[in-house]
Amino acid sequence: MSEISQKELDGFRADARAWFSENVPAKPEFMMPLTFMEVGTDQQFDFLRGWQKKVYEAGYLGAAWPKKYGGGGLAQALQDIATQEMYRAGGPIMLNAIGLNWAGPLILDMGTDEQRNQYIKGILSAEDIWCQGFSEPDHGSDLGAAQTRAVRDGDDYVINGSKIWTTQGNYAKYMILLARTNPDAQRKYDGLSFFLAPMTVPGVDTVPIRKLTGEYGFTQTFFTDARIPATTLMGGEGKGWQVAMRTLEYERGARGGQAGGYVMVYPDVSKVVDLAKRAMRNGRPAFDDPAIRERLVKLLTTYRGLKLNSTRALIAPLVRDRPLSLPLSAKLVRSEFYREINQLAMAMQGPHGAYYVGEPEAYDDAIWQRSYLNSFSATIGGGTSQIQHNIIGEHVLGLPKS
Ligand SMILES: Cc1cc2nc3c(=O)[nH]c(=O)nc-3n(C[C@H](O)[C@H](O)[C@H](O)COP(=O)(O)OP(=O)(O)OC[C@H]3O[C@@H](n4cnc5c(N)ncnc54)[C@H](O)[C@@H]3O)c2cc1C
Repeated sequence: MSEISQKELDGFRADARAWFSENVPAKPEFMMPLTFMEVGTDQQFDFLRGWQKKVYEAGYLGAAWPKKYGGGGLAQALQDIATQEMYRAGGPIMLNAIGLNWAGPLILDMGTDEQRNQYIKGILSAEDIWCQGFSEPDHGSDLGAAQTRAVRDGDDYVINGSKIWTTQGNYAKYMILLARTNPDAQRKYDGLSFFLAPMTVPGVDTVPIRKLTGEYGFTQTFFTDARIPATTLMGGEGKGWQVAMRTLEYERGARGGQAGGYVMVYPDVSKVVDLAKRAMRNGRPAFDDPAIRERLVKLLTTYRGLKLNSTRALIAPLVRDRPLSLPLSAKLVRSEFYREINQLAMAMQGPHGAYYVGEPEAYDDAIWQRSYLNSFSATIGGGTSQIQHNIIGEHVLGLPKS
């Protein structure tokens, strides 16, 4: 693709800025989810689905995905600008997170032309919501031991078993499903296959699971003799582990190609300083406490470091020695950072930290409390922080497998 001039970039930014300032919807009266993992009511779902469709139709989502499958066919730099302007204008999150960020890029990357034609447009428009069926009640971190069975029967596979923590499972039309096609394979990984499974066939049932904030967002998903077409297999029978690992690279942000937009909104980090000046702790503003100030400075320095690292990752000579270090550590450091900054915001409030959403005494309508409780999600989903440490140890530092 030819280089884009600064004038074109600036023009695109000006258009995007104008569009978002006119089109970002007013804050609804109902509580909005902070992330795609807390979409729990039909009201929230319909609102966010409508918003994603509108952004896509305006050309500000999937702008860099190929035109022939429903994308905009533009440069990634333009999609990045659109995302920045969306954030600047305070736009709501994109709903179809799994479709936009991992199923979609995976289908573009490894799918057949037919699969791309079938699925990509519906992902962008939010017509087709996607979920992910990897974790099972007894197999989360140990994903390679997944037991949900897929048995070939004519032109179909018959699925039996259960997946858990299925984000948006009750709204999804499709699931990226990891299931066992060969229980006798010598290596457990070789017995797995990967499917772009429809959720609308008989024999698929979802039961919502409540989170510690009282919100919903994921389900346990049961398969009872659910028949899915064999054409939904991706990567070939017995090759599911390789496809799943590629999916996790997209999910953890270690591989680019996502559609754009954002799917989580935590409180603005810069506002934590403002909170420190307002929140009273032992009768004085938290900001007056040197221990709080020290933690604050450390975390704000980390935040700055994270931002600089994103830029550094784009400059090849700076990451040549350990090219995987930044991509593989991004999920770990970001998710732990947000948990810590929210934890500090709670600590600053002293006993006030016990007030919750709707209570007049709570600072900022308890956004920090809610955000703190929800911030654990990202440190677990997509692989826990301990697992990310293992990955960095093995694949970046070259340590032996434990
Ligand atoms: C909000 C949320 C949304 C999610 N959405 C989805 C989804 O859409 N689809 C889906 O498939 N899954 C989803 N998950 C599930 C998630 O991927 C799993 O919870 C995660 O992989 C951990 O698995 P587990 O819960 O079985 O914990 P376990 O694997 O039982 O782990 C328990 C503890 O042991 C530690 N541990 C385990 N093995 C090791 C090891 N080898 N080395 C060091 N420590 C270890 C873990 O770090 C953890 O602290 C979601 C989870 C959350 C919290």
